[in-house]
Amino acid sequence: MKKCPYCKIEVGGNPVKCPLCQSRLIGEGERPYFPEKSTLQFRSFLYKIQMFIAWAVIIAALGMDFLLGVRFPSFPDLHWGLIIVMWTVAFEFVIMKQFKPGTASARKLSIMVFLILILLTVTSYYFDFLWLTKDWIIPITIAATLVVNFVLTMLDKQGNAITYLLTCLFFGLVPFWVMYILRKDMPMTWSICLIVSITVLAAAIIFKGRTVAREFQRRFHI
Ligand SMILES: [Zn+2]
Repeated sequence: MKKCPYCKIEVGGNPVKCPLCQSRLIGEGERPYFPEKSTLQFRSFLYKIQMFIAWAVIIAALGMDFLLGVRFPSFPDLHWGLIIVMWTVAFEFVIMKQFKPGTASARKLSIMVFLILILLTVTSYYFDFLWLTKDWIIPITIAATLVVNFVLTMLDKQGNAITYLLTCLFFGLVPFWVMYILRKDMPMTWSICLIVSITVLAAAIIFKGRTVAREFQRRFHI
């Protein structure tokens, strides 16, 4: 352990200076408590590069769309630059989340999937492939996310992942009933999503019954 010759204190880890008086510490240091600074600096350099690219993309897209009037051949009225901006901003948001330490993977995954599905819905609405998003991409993605969230719940010791599993279940079950009431017919993919949802819910209750019950109590104050 390192010592400060002036304050007569011992300091753990491997700092250079005394935290109280900023004098140089003496003695042998231990393994540092915090990660090496060089990796952090490298990451923040990469972060700045991708930030710069993101800004370049935004400026170029808006410039081409609004100043040069570049248009997609089949969509003469569409301001596609705004859609590019939307995706780039969302990408930055996801990157920020990934860089933020201590965020559970279930949380990161769920936020990312949810965000991408919203953006995809908006994009497909303007580019005329909403049917593909609604009937194929969303149910398959929700089913896949459910399975991954279930695995994360099984691995998670703190019981943090269960929130996202239940939220994801909500998105697997509720749209099915809404569409069933509105359309009376159900795309096969949504039926598969429903089956996966119920299977995962059953598995969660069987393997993590008490955690599921506790989570419900905590969320709904019952
Ligand atoms: Zn000191």
